[in-house]
Amino acid sequence: MKHVYFFSNGNAEGDSAKKELLGGKGAGLTEMTNLGIPVPPGFIISTEACLLYYKNNEKIPEEIWSEILSHLSKLEDSLGKKFGDVNDPLLVSVRSGARVSMPGMMDTVLNLGLNDQTVKGIAKIADNERFAYDSYRRFIQMFGDVVLGIEHHKFEKILNHIKNGRKLDTDLTTEDLKNLVQHFEELVKKETGQPFPQHPIEQLKLSINAVFDSWHTNRATTYRKIHKIPDNWGTAVNVQAMVFGNMGETSGTGVAFTRNPSTGERLFFGEFLMNAQGEDVVAGIRTPEPISKLKEIMPEAYNHLEQVYQKLETHYKDMQDIEFTIENEKLYMLQTRTGKRTASSAVKIAYDMVKEGLIDKKTALMRISPEQVDQLLHPTISPHEKYKVIARGLPASPGAAVGKVVFTAKDAEEWVERGEKVILVRNETSPEDIGGMNVAEGILTATGGMTSHAAVVARGMGKCCVAGCSDLDINEKTKKLAVADIVIKEGTFVSINGTTGEFIQDKVKLVKPTLSYEFSKILEWTSEIKTLGVRTNADTPKDAKVAREFGAEGIGLCRTEHMFFEGTRIDAVREMILSESKADRKKALAKIKPFQKDDFKNIFQAMEGLPVTIRLLDPPLHEFLPHTEDEIRKVAQLSGVSYEKLKAKTEALKEFNPMLGHRGCRIGISFPEVYEMQSSAIMEAACECHHDGITVKPEIMIPLVGFGKELDILRALVKTTAEETMDSYSIKIDFLIGTMIELPRAAITADEIAKFADFFSFGTNDLTQTSLGLSRDDSGKFLPHYIERGIFKEDPFTTIDIDGVGALVVMGVKKGKEGNPNLKTGICGEHGGDPASISFCQKAGLNYVSCSPYRVPIAKLAAAQAKINE
Ligand code: PEP
Ligand code: MG
Repeated sequence: MKHVYFFSNGNAEGDSAKKELLGGKGAGLTEMTNLGIPVPPGFIISTEACLLYYKNNEKIPEEIWSEILSHLSKLEDSLGKKFGDVNDPLLVSVRSGARVSMPGMMDTVLNLGLNDQTVKGIAKIADNERFAYDSYRRFIQMFGDVVLGIEHHKFEKILNHIKNGRKLDTDLTTEDLKNLVQHFEELVKKETGQPFPQHPIEQLKLSINAVFDSWHTNRATTYRKIHKIPDNWGTAVNVQAMVFGNMGETSGTGVAFTRNPSTGERLFFGEFLMNAQGEDVVAGIRTPEPISKLKEIMPEAYNHLEQVYQKLETHYKDMQDIEFTIENEKLYMLQTRTGKRTASSAVKIAYDMVKEGLIDKKTALMRISPEQVDQLLHPTISPHEKYKVIARGLPASPGAAVGKVVFTAKDAEEWVERGEKVILVRNETSPEDIGGMNVAEGILTATGGMTSHAAVVARGMGKCCVAGCSDLDINEKTKKLAVADIVIKEGTFVSINGTTGEFIQDKVKLVKPTLSYEFSKILEWTSEIKTLGVRTNADTPKDAKVAREFGAEGIGLCRTEHMFFEGTRIDAVREMILSESKADRKKALAKIKPFQKDDFKNIFQAMEGLPVTIRLLDPPLHEFLPHTEDEIRKVAQLSGVSYEKLKAKTEALKEFNPMLGHRGCRIGISFPEVYEMQSSAIMEAACECHHDGITVKPEIMIPLVGFGKELDILRALVKTTAEETMDSYSIKIDFLIGTMIELPRAAITADEIAKFADFFSFGTNDLTQTSLGLSRDDSGKFLPHYIERGIFKEDPFTTIDIDGVGALVVMGVKKGKEGNPNLKTGICGEHGGDPASISFCQKAGLNYVSCSPYRVPIAKLAAAQAKINE
């Protein structure tokens, strides 16, 4: 079996399709060679050889070693030079190259093949003694560092001593460099107990081993874990004839991008250093020159470089990240790969390349990741910032925020009123905190998961949130929080990063999001391609407007109860809950109705004829009652109810398991007048909008249904109310009545339930909670252990558990259509904004997904990608 691949002079064994075998760097080198681009010849030892090396107890197997040696001879023949020849030696570079570029692995050894004898040969052949010893001292340092494991700073110390105050390496004389070589050799002897290896073959073998070994360093392993790169890929080794950028002022080396990787601008972008070798560009000792300067210094080499980069971009049809060396005015390419880019440049490059006719729209959409779109919509921490992370929680709502710590929603409102910016820190938030959450820059909680109140509401607001940061010890009374021995008082500036879940002690600098023309065009293209509808979860006219601007195609979930806390409404809501009789309850409901109707009218207006799904009351009633003694006293006074009575009522409404208690449609069954009022408010709003010439498409949704009979009863109630309301306006409007599927029983008996439903909306937050038996609000504490141990791949409240919850969704759709062939289906749990879950929804045949306004663009891209991948 073949393990070594040769490339030389326009001819390579392999091409860019062989990335898995040759690694990214090797694939690029072979492809460039085949394209007739000048690449120094060499050979690639495959990733399979790396795996065999590990199988063979970290020794290169005999047959592979002989294959390497025969390729070395081939390389010698092609250049007419011999490895270790004291007159005109072949020198090579050795580099690692995994399938994807991977920091943390062994980087590069240059000038391999030099020793105390060959260095003299090089000096003579090049007629440049300084160059020869400069190359040799570099080789000993690189080899010493990456192959022999001698700490870098020990070499630097000697170098600085010899420089003796001179700033640049280029200031060193030939004598200095000879001296340096001697000192470096002494250092190697001292550190390893052996002289610096003089035999080139031994140097080569040790370097290849070092590349293979570097696949398993801690840094590389950690990097793979973070980026989900499999451990069994292995790395290839690239052995390539040296070309020299350090031969004097007609030589140099540089790196460049075919377009600007930060902005996407179509402009050759890069830097170079004259009389230098590769590592000088990144080392930062000398400041590299912008690439445009090369045009002045060496116009011919520059023109050649320009032709090459254009050829590469046209060939790969993507922005390339390239490395080159110029040896005595002759250009050589050392690397080409797909360039990494910022989110905004990804969007611009994708758009521009379609306009340039380089790629089609589908390819363009596949080039942008949903995560990049997410970055574009929120402030992020400036990439130049250095900061200290003191604790980590869940990345509950993306973006970053800076502000002074406050501990109550009320304080947040007061501080903001005074012109301060705040981070609201709570153990957990509740609907009562909505005002404070609304004004805060960001929200940080100690408990709660990805679908906790804080997370859901913050996402809806497009506000940054870190939830479930369990190392926080919050004392609301003393207005302090502690993380181990760090204590932070109210009013201290902190930062949070909701994209990563970091809690940061410092005040960091943020970068504001900007939405470009190209971005809006890309969003238009998603609509041309995707088949899955993208709606939004919006509770207020403001949310609805934001979502519309991002291209939402309707509202998939309007949680009516989120409107209950605004202003004085809560008083009427509490009055309703505290009512002893149906008559009293109706009186209180009559006070709430005008508010609700008004909200619905504004939402219908904002959605301009798009469907609006409004969910009837869902949460357990005690959520609307005061909790603390002080609050109970205050509310008692306000409502004219005695303190004792109010206290007794709150006690009576308390449940051991409120999530499985008196909530959802069960409220409608016990107190039909509540759903009756809400249905009537929805239809009055619809009739009045219709009257004003606004098209309305109301969809009334009943939550937490588990039995066909529940929906049968409540559908009849809603239908009668709606018809009576429309009759009173003498208007006829088409409307739908549907249900949420949030309980396993609902999915299992979907055929029965669908007989009474025009649509199903899968409430996968509750469906995950009820089918996994996993609390939405408490599981954050132990979920990380489950992910660490590999029981869950992802947080099931973020990415749908396809095998369990997903199977229920598939069953629900199939059986639902048996019960009602015209049934429409969608999803409105938080999964509706998660790319992997959206891909699942496409496969499950849902009609639409619904997500928070700020995730609409991400969902549109993910839906288009799901369609393209189909
Ligand atoms: C759900 O359960 O998925 C849902 C959307 O409803 P809520 O989050 O309001 O319970
Ligand atoms: Mg629910």
